[in-house]
Amino acid sequence: MRLVVVGAGLSGLAVAHTLHSIAPQMAVHCVEKSRGLGGRVATRRHEGATFDHGAQFFRPLDADQMHFFTQTLPHDTLIDIAKPVYAFDAQNRITIGDSAQNNEPKFVYRDGLNTLAKLIRPASMTLSLQTRIQRIEATTTGYTIYSDQGVRIDSADALVFTPPAPQTIELLHASTITESVKNDLIKGLAPATYRPCLSVSLLYAGFFDPAYYALVNNDRAHPISWLAVEHAKHAARVPEGHTLLTAQLAPQASRDLWEVDEATLYETVAAWAQTLTGHPLGAPLWGDRQGWRYALPDGRADATTMQSYEQSHGLYFAGDAHTGLGRIQLAIQNGAAVAQRIAAHAGARI
Ligand SMILES: Cc1cc2nc3c(=O)[nH]c(=O)nc-3n(C[C@H](O)[C@H](O)[C@H](O)COP(=O)(O)OP(=O)(O)OC[C@H]3O[C@@H](n4cnc5c(N)ncnc54)[C@H](O)[C@@H]3O)c2cc1C
Repeated sequence: MRLVVVGAGLSGLAVAHTLHSIAPQMAVHCVEKSRGLGGRVATRRHEGATFDHGAQFFRPLDADQMHFFTQTLPHDTLIDIAKPVYAFDAQNRITIGDSAQNNEPKFVYRDGLNTLAKLIRPASMTLSLQTRIQRIEATTTGYTIYSDQGVRIDSADALVFTPPAPQTIELLHASTITESVKNDLIKGLAPATYRPCLSVSLLYAGFFDPAYYALVNNDRAHPISWLAVEHAKHAARVPEGHTLLTAQLAPQASRDLWEVDEATLYETVAAWAQTLTGHPLGAPLWGDRQGWRYALPDGRADATTMQSYEQSHGLYFAGDAHTGLGRIQLAIQNGAAVAQRIAAHAGARI
């Protein structure tokens, strides 16, 4: 059986990883529109600094996942961030965070959280990067997949869609599959709406070393929802004597600042960060921005509808549109569960 996975984020890679273990004969081709693996688990390197401009850390859901991350996968660069996450409110009042949550692991990798994607990718998987799937055509024997250049990429017996729901809806709209099936699936995906997030990283001369690793806004009334100190993950993340802060803006602030020029954005966020931390950070040496249009889901796709066409049509869906919460560990768990169903349905067809 030939399977095409749309997207090489953690859910798509978990599908491939699990199938590699339980159905190694299956040919899995993962097609990804961007230059690398990981999707929203993303790491950037700039002038000696390494920073995660998407997801910040993950924590295992249960003992099985703990074993997977700390034993099954290579773990020599796995780090549990030692410092806690503190909370803050709209008035910039900082308080000790949730101690129960702070006692749980906050896993990252020394060289960037994106390492997780590289570790989960199975060796047997075929990977096409910088290839955006634009359209899928149902044929008498399965599906043909086309890129946005109009090029035929591959044929498959079954497909797994892993992009955020609005992007999967767009892809389904452009595809030639039975109209009633298409409309049903689009309706099933509709509840999975997403909020945007503008992530801004700023490098400062001078060393700021607070008691916390990060600050989370707990009244959802501050333009910053999350502020992280990158060197709290590992000293080598940032040039010595410097400080790199990553601010994730709240949905409304993200929308308001989405289009502004970089200088204005960095100046605005630097002023907020200085007031919030109460530390004389000064002007940043440089900044970096990433706009995540579909950062975190606010709702969840209808599971019954989305699983209706798995065995009959070979159409599968994975990712955080189906967990309702934007969490790496949930995306991995969801991808693994979808892979189990694919293997079970394929049975003798493999
Ligand atoms: C700013 C931010 C902070 C976050 N913080 C945390 C955190 O601290 N901890 C945590 O656990 N989670 C966090 N999350 C959420 C977490 O990153 C996601 O829930 C998880 O990574 C989702 O994985 P996924 O595979 O479902 O989707 P994605 O990672 O979005 O993967 C989907 C992939 O599909 C690709 N794609 C889309 N359309 C096409 C197409 N047409 N053709 C080919 N490829 C396509 C995309 O490029 C992408 O790589 C955060 C997310 C953001 C944005």
